[in-house]
Amino acid sequence: MDMFNFWWREVLEAMGEYFLFASSFFVLFYIILKKPLWFRKVQKKLPKLSDYGRDIIYSLISIGIFASVAVVVFFFNGEYTHIYRDIETYNWGYYLFTWVYMFFIHDTYFYWMHRMMHHPTLFKWVHLVHHKSTNPSPWTAYAFHPFEAFLEAMIVPILAFGIPIHGPAIGAFLFFQIIYNVYGHLGFELYPKNFHKTAIGKWINTSVAHNLHHKGFDGNYGLYFLIWDRWMGTLRKDYNTTYEMTTERQ
Ligand SMILES: [Zn+2]
Ligand SMILES: [Zn+2]
Repeated sequence: MDMFNFWWREVLEAMGEYFLFASSFFVLFYIILKKPLWFRKVQKKLPKLSDYGRDIIYSLISIGIFASVAVVVFFFNGEYTHIYRDIETYNWGYYLFTWVYMFFIHDTYFYWMHRMMHHPTLFKWVHLVHHKSTNPSPWTAYAFHPFEAFLEAMIVPILAFGIPIHGPAIGAFLFFQIIYNVYGHLGFELYPKNFHKTAIGKWINTSVAHNLHHKGFDGNYGLYFLIWDRWMGTLRKDYNTTYEMTTERQ
């Protein structure tokens, strides 16, 4: 396969996943279940058509950048990655550890990169693109300025050149990432009532938490977890009350 075909294959794969999940969540929540689940809508209003359009265009550009990073990592430097194919190369315990590792590394990288993006200069020139959606929808998932898309994609070399990770596990992890990303921007809360107060739920990032980040422009910087937000004191003060208001029928 030549470089261009490799790039196209990556684009089609990422585009397929983005459209599959963003459109199915969109049809399900913004059309079919809109009325019965409206009480679970974080902000009781809908984005404008132009918001969807802008988010989709930026997401397509981001996908092109993700594919370019994949070309550099896997097409040109595939032999230097620490990816392994056979689980027995290490053992099942190690394999399970790498899953915890991937979630923790990605969440940590995302949290600090995201906080950096909120520096006034970077925010104005770069991160504002993502924040144009103050009431995000599933289409917002990859709506980044090209430079931010590049930084977002750096998780791939971080995983590929770090500790040995099973190849299909990285693939499944990145597949899960898009689903969780779409959920984070969904605008409807899916976790059960009082989840935010449970021993586990306390530490998990929710659609309410990320929605508040888009609405209020600060706090709640995490991706999968609220671990760093709680440790660093950046969890928004309106998180608990908004979570409760969104998960209880008025
Ligand atoms: Zn932000
Ligand atoms: Zn966002």
